[in-house]
Amino acid sequence: VFVCFEGGEGAGKSTQSRLLREALEAQGREVVLTFEPGDTPVGAQLRRIVLSPETGDLSPRTEALIYAADKAEHVHALVQPALARGAVVVTDRYVDSTLAYQGAGRAVTDADLAEVERVARWATQDLRPHLTVVLDLDPAAGLARFEGRDRIEAEGPQFHERVRAAFLRMAAADPERYLVLDARAPVDEIAAAVTDRLAPLLAP
Ligand code: C5P
Repeated sequence: VFVCFEGGEGAGKSTQSRLLREALEAQGREVVLTFEPGDTPVGAQLRRIVLSPETGDLSPRTEALIYAADKAEHVHALVQPALARGAVVVTDRYVDSTLAYQGAGRAVTDADLAEVERVARWATQDLRPHLTVVLDLDPAAGLARFEGRDRIEAEGPQFHERVRAAFLRMAAADPERYLVLDARAPVDEIAAAVTDRLAPLLAP
């Protein structure tokens, strides 16, 4: 079973991924926790390139391709092997982040968005999560939780509003595969909602 957490900056994705791992491990399951960008050796190098303020401006295509390369390695080296041996894989960000940031955030045309999606699907061999949890939060509140700003966090408020709207749009279009939660809710309430929703997917 493949589970994904998505959402903007400071929404609590890594906290919730860790809590889900703990809950599932307590049930005796093998859990592999991963993240994008940067959870493989080559991914870590790509992450440095794409997030460093020293990189300066990148063309939207370059940026989308770097994220796609990170994804390809992530799926090939981590996600697929783990799923193949029956582990539950929990990822902090995945394809939807690309559609939201490199697509909606960069405000590419609809035609370019379709290409960004095609490349991301190709990179990930069209492997899709069984459940995607969107932790929804006003970007101003999320960004306020951070001191440092990477290249993307430093984008203006409208960029982050487009990202948020894109996550909500994707979730609304496919309610079977998405769970949208208010990221301002107490951490343990969010965690409980996720495990409840996941339970039927894990039933033998
Ligand atoms: O989730 P995390 O904080 O590790 O993400 C690192 C940075 O990469 C964030 O600023 C996020 O906005 C950005 N990002 C992105 N496009 C993606 C995934 C992450 O711009 N596809």
